[in-house]
This record gives sequence, C-alpha cells and structure tokens, in this order.
Amino acid sequence: MSIPFEHSYIQLPQLLFERVRPTPVTQPKLLAVNDTLAETLHISRNEITCPDGVAIFAGNKIPNGAEPIALAYAGHQFGHLVPQLGDGRAILLGEITGRDGKRYDVQLKGAGRTPYSRRGDGRAAIGPVLREYLVSEAMFALGVKTTRSLCAVATGELVYREIPSPGAVLTRVALSHLRVGTFEYVALRRDVDALERLTNYALARLYRDRSSNGSVALTLLEAVIASQAELVAHWMALGFVHGVMNTDNMAISGETIDYGPCAFLDTYSPERTFSSIDVNGRYSFINQPNCAQWNLTRLAEALFPLVLKEGHVEAKATALLTECLKAFSPQYTAAYQMRLRRKLGLTLETADDAALAQDLLTMMAASKVDYTLCFRRLADVAEGAEASVITSLFADLEAIGGWLRRWEHRSQQESRSDAARAALMRGANPAFIPRNHRIEEVIAAALQGDLAPFVRLHDVLARPYEDRLDARDLALPPGEEQWDYRTFCGT
Ligand code: AMP
Ligand code: MG
Repeated sequence: MSIPFEHSYIQLPQLLFERVRPTPVTQPKLLAVNDTLAETLHISRNEITCPDGVAIFAGNKIPNGAEPIALAYAGHQFGHLVPQLGDGRAILLGEITGRDGKRYDVQLKGAGRTPYSRRGDGRAAIGPVLREYLVSEAMFALGVKTTRSLCAVATGELVYREIPSPGAVLTRVALSHLRVGTFEYVALRRDVDALERLTNYALARLYRDRSSNGSVALTLLEAVIASQAELVAHWMALGFVHGVMNTDNMAISGETIDYGPCAFLDTYSPERTFSSIDVNGRYSFINQPNCAQWNLTRLAEALFPLVLKEGHVEAKATALLTECLKAFSPQYTAAYQMRLRRKLGLTLETADDAALAQDLLTMMAASKVDYTLCFRRLADVAEGAEASVITSLFADLEAIGGWLRRWEHRSQQESRSDAARAALMRGANPAFIPRNHRIEEVIAAALQGDLAPFVRLHDVLARPYEDRLDARDLALPPGEEQWDYRTFCGT
C-alpha cells in the first residue's frame, strides 16, 4: 500500500518531537473502519482491512513514507503546570492532504511507549478506544469540530487498568495535534525563535485565511479565541461535557480533542462532572466557558515573549494580549445565544430571547428533565403536537405551561411556517446523542466479542438529526439506576 504521507512537523525545531517506533502487538484484529474518512485520505477500505493494513494500524508495520514521531508538549492539568508532557502513547505517522484539500495528521493512539510516557504503558484499553471512536464520530455527525477516528484495531494483549482489559489502537485523525500545551512547552524553554516558528507554522497550517494584524502572535491568539468560542458554544448547546479541559487537551485548531471522561448530559444538570478525579467540579458542564477562557489566558502568556520579540515593551505586550482575551466572552455569548435561539426555532434576535431560553433551562434543571429529549419534543410542539409531550416532563405544570405560552407568543414574531420552524429546530436539536449507558452496553458486548451493537449505535449516530422508528431505544434517556455515571481517568 502506498499512503501519500507528508511531513511538515519534522521541519519544526527538534525540541518539539522525538522520532519513535510503534511497539508491535501479538494478535492484531480489526474492530472498526471509517470508510468515508479513509476515502478522504486516499486510502481504500481494502487497504485497511487487508493483513498489511491491519498490521500498519496496529503499529506492527511502518508504512512506506511514514516518519513516526511523538510530539512534545506541556500543560496545566487541573490548574497545575506540568512542564513535561507529550505523546506518551500516541505516535504520529505523518500527514495526508485529503481530497477536501485539508491536511490531516494521522496518529496511532495506544501504539506503545515513547520518550514521553513517564510511568504509563503507552497503551489504550478497548473500552476507551471504542468510546472515543463512537463519540468523536458522533460529534462529527452532529456538526461539531472534532478529531476523527479512522480505524480501531484490537491488540490481542491485556492492558492493566482498574482491572485487566484487552488493548486496542485507535487511529486518530486531526487537522493538527497542536495544543495550547505545545506553546507552553516552548515558552517554558525560553526558546523564542522556536516559538516564532511554531506560531508561523500554526497560522500557515490552520488559519491561512485569517488576515494578519501585523503580529503573528496576536493573529494566532485571536484566531484560537474565535474558534474556541465557537467550539465551546457548540458543546454547550448540545449538552456535551469534555471532562478534562487541561491545556494539553485544548487544540489550537479548535477541534474537540482527547475523549476521556467526556459525556453528553442526560438530565439537564449544569454542575454535572464526569471525571472521577474532578472533585471540585472544575470541568463541570456549566464551567466550560470559564475553563476555555482560563486556557486561552495560558496561551496568551505563552505567546508573551513573541510579542516582545515583535518589538513591544512589556506593558504594551500585556495590554495587547489582554485586549485579545477580552474578545472571548462576547464571542462565546453571541455564538451560544445564536445556538439557543435556533434550538427554540427562532431566527430573529430580540432582547428577551436569552431570558426565555434561560427560564426553560432553569425549569429543566429543577425537574431533572432530559436535555436532548425535551428540545427534540419542542420541535414536535412547534408543529402542532400536544403540549403534554413537554409538560409531562416537568414537575411544575403551571410554570412550564406559562413558559410554553411565552414561547408561542414569541414564535409568532417569526415570519416562518410552523413546519419551517420545526425543521430548523430538528436541525439544531438531535434525536440521537451518544448516551453513556448505551456506550457502556456496546463496550460490554464488544468485550464479549459481539460488535453488532457497536455497529448499530455507530450507524444511528451517523445521522443524529433524523428520527428513526427502528432505533427509538437509542433515543431514550437512561433509567434512574443508570444515572450516576462516572468515567475513570485511567483511559
Ligand atoms: P490525558 O489525560 O489522556 O490527556 O493524558 C495526559 C498525559 O498522559 C499525556 O501526556 C498522555 O500522553 C499521557 N498518557 C496517558 N495515558 C498514558 C499511557 N497509558 N501511557 C503513557 N502515557 C499516557
Ligand atoms: Mg491529553
């Protein structure tokens, strides 16, 4: 097989990566292949499913043209600086310019130890691999910017977490694996030339269309702020909780990256966390915009020496970076409010829209209403369904009845037909999200050798905005006994 690899990252300063080899595994077996993504990358399905292909995506064989490397980065984890992180279990094979003209990183995750593994084994367990595959592809289908999953291969070997589990390798595809932590890494080493090259690289690779404001550092910061404001607004509109928004898990590209203890809300609980070690709720659902702002401030700090190099004195550099950071909050709020309006079927902007949406959310939280189900049913009401499909979800019937009348009154200001409003709402409010209890069922079946539930869930999540009578079970919220879901960090 010949994969048209390119290698721009190894042109960057040497401190940013190490050349590595994947560690072979005993019994590679293909678990899943993403046909459409493969095609985008000029790879045919057969080239992945054939024995040579499986060997490559298990890390047993280096394909022609690959130059495997592990990337270095630092990061703030739960607020604490860790100066030396890096790809401890991920190996970049190279980049491919896809049929869409975009350049993608192709990376094996779980392919063995690297110089950045610290105490880790360099491996991934099958459960988290299938979970990342499902959730990242669901996010893509939902329209969210995200890394993607090209294929998953079981290794035939055990990895030791809370309990021993079969291992697997995920092939992750991203517009780039640059993170806020990559910039922190270079800044910490006080290598301003490397910082400048890295910044130019990021701009050329990810934000080519953005006009320069005279400073590469400020141009990049503005671009990342804008894309993170959009991304986090999208998460918040869909009820997605990333779970570990450490700076090493925030991509410069604005893609969702590192699906560890992530989850979609079932009941609307703003303070909900999903990571077993997030005892203070730092990465709770409602705190995500604050965390993004915090991380972007760390990026601004990392870029500070470059703004100085660009000819500004310290006070001016601080003022310029601070000015950029101030843009996050209004950009985020505008993006989030626009998405909330769409969820309510509103296209015009009026002053009371934010309060209208917030009042519904407050009632949803009080009655522990399923977030996705409620918004999806609201589209049915827009099109004439009985109000009871909504009111029956709430404890305070009078309050929700009052809210529905307000919403209907507001909807009359829109010059659209009921059907058009309902269609707008169904395009913003998915019928299907990757609910945790379903993911766990699918993983349990896969561990017994049955991949059929995985395939079914994956296929339904590929068209999340379409109603499907044959998959009603997958749209339903969990029963109460399945509520206390937590993901453990040893992914
Ligand atoms: P994460 O919490 O997954 O974002 O990972 C944080 C850091 O730990 C990164 O540098 C990872 O590469 C590293 N890491 C996570 N799991 C492993 C593992 N099993 N082996 C080696 N390094 C790991
Ligand atoms: Mg990470």
